[in-house]
Amino acid sequence: MNADARLSRLRRRLAEEGHDAALVCDVSNVRYVTGFEAVWDDDANVACLVTADLARIYTDSRYAEAAAAAAVATPWALSTPSASIYVTLCDDLGADGIGSLVLESSVPFGRFRFISERFSGRVAAVDDWVEELREVKEAAEVERIARAAALTDRAFDHVLGVLRPGLTETEVVLELEFFMRRHGSEGVAFPSIVACGPNSSRPHAVPGQRRIEAGDPVILDLGARVEGYCSDMTRTVVVGAPASSEFRAVYEAVLAANEAGKGAARGGVTGAEIDGVAREVLTGAGYGEHFGHGLGHGVGLDVHELPTVSPRGRRSVLSGSVITIEPGVYLEGRFGVRIEDLVAVHDGGCRALSASPTGLIEIV
Ligand code: ZN
Ligand code: ZN
Repeated sequence: MNADARLSRLRRRLAEEGHDAALVCDVSNVRYVTGFEAVWDDDANVACLVTADLARIYTDSRYAEAAAAAAVATPWALSTPSASIYVTLCDDLGADGIGSLVLESSVPFGRFRFISERFSGRVAAVDDWVEELREVKEAAEVERIARAAALTDRAFDHVLGVLRPGLTETEVVLELEFFMRRHGSEGVAFPSIVACGPNSSRPHAVPGQRRIEAGDPVILDLGARVEGYCSDMTRTVVVGAPASSEFRAVYEAVLAANEAGKGAARGGVTGAEIDGVAREVLTGAGYGEHFGHGLGHGVGLDVHELPTVSPRGRRSVLSGSVITIEPGVYLEGRFGVRIEDLVAVHDGGCRALSASPTGLIEIV
C-alpha cells in the first residue's frame, strides 16, 4: 500500500482544479487516502483535510487511540476535538488561511450546509476525485481482492455440498456467510443473495423463508472481504431434479454472454463497449429484453465502485482495474440466471480472479 503516492495524486488534482483544500469524509475514501488499516469502521466519524502541505485527520475519541498508532511515521496529523469535529474544522480553516474547499458530492446535505455557513471561503462539491484514484489498483490491492475471490470460491464449493430441497434461502445465506467468516472474511462484502425458484427472477432478491423445491434454480451471489477488499461472484445452480430444457437454453445464453464479456474486457475499451458485446449475445438469443441491469462494475474497497461497465460507461476501462462481468436473464415470476465473475483488467485482456466452474451444476 502506497499511501504517500495516493496523497500526492490527490494534491495534484487539487492544484489542477485550482482549490486550496479537499475534505475527504467517505469512509472508503478515508481508508484509501490514509492507508490506515483496521482503524475506521463503516460509519466512522472522520474527516481528512488535505492541502498542498497539510494532511490532518479529524475524528473523535472512539477512534483516537487506533488512529494515533496508525499515524506514526506518516504525514498525517491528528485532531480529536471533544466537541463536533466540524466546528473545530471550520475554525481551523480560517486559521490555516484556506480560501476554497472541496467536499465530496456524497457528503450529507446538512453537513454541506453547516460548513458552507460557518466557513467564510468558497465551498464546492466535486464528484469522484478519490474514487477515480481508486480505480486503478496497486498490485497489493489486486492481491487482496484475489484472496477474497479465492475465499468466495471455497464458500461456493462448500455450499454445493449442503444445498438440498427443504432448506430456506436464509439457511443457505447463513451457511455461506458463516463459512466465509470462519475462514477469514471480515464480515461480508455485501449481504449475500440466495434466491430460489421464482424468486430468482428478481436480480437483487431479498433472501427469506422460502424453501428450495425439487428442480428449483438457485441464484447465489456472494462476496468475502479480506484486509478491507471485496470480492463478488454469482452462480446459478439447479437443486433436487435435472434442469428443464428451457432453463438449459437460458443458461447457455447467459454463459455465452459471460464468456463474450470476459473476451471483450481489456484496458482502453469503454465500459459501454464491453457491456455491448455481452448484451449482443443475449439479444441474439432472444433474451435481450430480459437483461435489465448493467454488465458489471468495479470492485475494491467497496463492492460497487468505478469503473462503470454498462451502457452508461462512456469512459475507457483502465488497465489495472478490477471489474465484474455479470450478465443475467430474468423471466418474471418464473426463474432467473446470472453468472458473475471477477476479473483483473490488463492491456491485452483480463485475468479471471473467480475460479468456480461456470458450467451448469445440477445437484440431484
Ligand atoms: Zn454479485
Ligand atoms: Zn456484482
